[in-house]
Amino acid sequence: MKIAVLPGDGIGPEIVAEAVKVLNALDEKFELEQAPVGGAGYEASGHPLPDATLALAKAADAVLFGAVGDWKYDALARELRPEQAILGLRKHLQLFANFRPAILYDELASASSLKPEIVAGLDILIIRELNGDIYFGQPRGIRSAPDGLFAGSREGFDTMRYSEPEVRRIAHVAFQAARKRGKRLCSVDKANVLETSQLWKDVMLDVAKEYADVELSHMYVDNAAMQLVKAPKNFDVIVTGNMFGDILSDEAAMLTGSIGMLPSASLDANNKGLYEPSHGSAPDIAGKGVANPLATILSAAMMLRYTFGKTAQAERIENAVKRVLARGLRTPDIWQEGATKVGTRQMGEAVVAALQE
Ligand code: NAD
Repeated sequence: MKIAVLPGDGIGPEIVAEAVKVLNALDEKFELEQAPVGGAGYEASGHPLPDATLALAKAADAVLFGAVGDWKYDALARELRPEQAILGLRKHLQLFANFRPAILYDELASASSLKPEIVAGLDILIIRELNGDIYFGQPRGIRSAPDGLFAGSREGFDTMRYSEPEVRRIAHVAFQAARKRGKRLCSVDKANVLETSQLWKDVMLDVAKEYADVELSHMYVDNAAMQLVKAPKNFDVIVTGNMFGDILSDEAAMLTGSIGMLPSASLDANNKGLYEPSHGSAPDIAGKGVANPLATILSAAMMLRYTFGKTAQAERIENAVKRVLARGLRTPDIWQEGATKVGTRQMGEAVVAALQE
């Protein structure tokens, strides 16, 4: 179980250090190797994704990633900015399936902007295709409109596209993930308007024949956006394309109230994955020892579940997190009156202690 540890910038090193403590407390044989990425990669060797870092990530079974980015790199050319590291890793490792769970622990129900009865106990998983769709489709550009009412004026255009194999592979990933959970999969599209979505839906229906134990439903993206705030607990697993997934996963994230709690995974066809918190490098609080390490710790739990197939160990970590929250320990981002305020390291150490119980 070889893990490339890429802490990155800002709070990245602080939160990754706590996740590493948790992994090391599991009595498993992990081989952990660390390398600089993002702004730290640029400082070390002039590029946000140094060759040696990419080689390490390629050779590993999984990548534990902190976060990248800092305002001080804003003036750099786009290809040298820290954020390019994550795009490069996705591309080189062929990570096409993004898993974003939105889980709301009972203890944090009042942190959500929705009523507690709507969100308490929420546990849904959004699977977003990451390599295709309108974000990468060609042709694209800004040109002089060739025809129509506005011929000759400037127009911007993009191409939404998905090939059948691309939809098929994300469909398999989604059905298999649904199988490991509540066995209900909702495919979100806009098939009433878009040809790309019609193909998406047809392929989902075809792949569904191989998963008779999973109930497949379809929903238009506009309705899905509504249902996520109206009755989010009706969902189990959602699968959708790159653009719809980008938007819906952030909407679902906010149901839980705190970005410091949300893990994520990006997987390739062989369950190799990159695991990272859903938040960024939070330069405003970096170095202060107050960042919430739970999203990163829960990302490590996802790694155990999806790359290493160690479900029991993943549950051990998730249960340890629940116990720590139940005892009232909170980092400042999730702190409320009556709770015990702790820093990054104390939170990580409390999870390690709860693991041993
Ligand atoms: P951010 O997610 O870093 O921070 C947003 C707000 O949430 C800040 O107030 C921050 O203090 C808070 N926050 C985030 N994580 C937290 C945690 N674990 N505990 C407590 N509070 C937390 O987003 P931003 O400020 O828009 O971006 C900062 C930098 O991060 C930028 O350079 C951006 O490009 C980068 N970024 C990187 C990734 C990534 O590495 N995948 C993702 C998003 C943003």
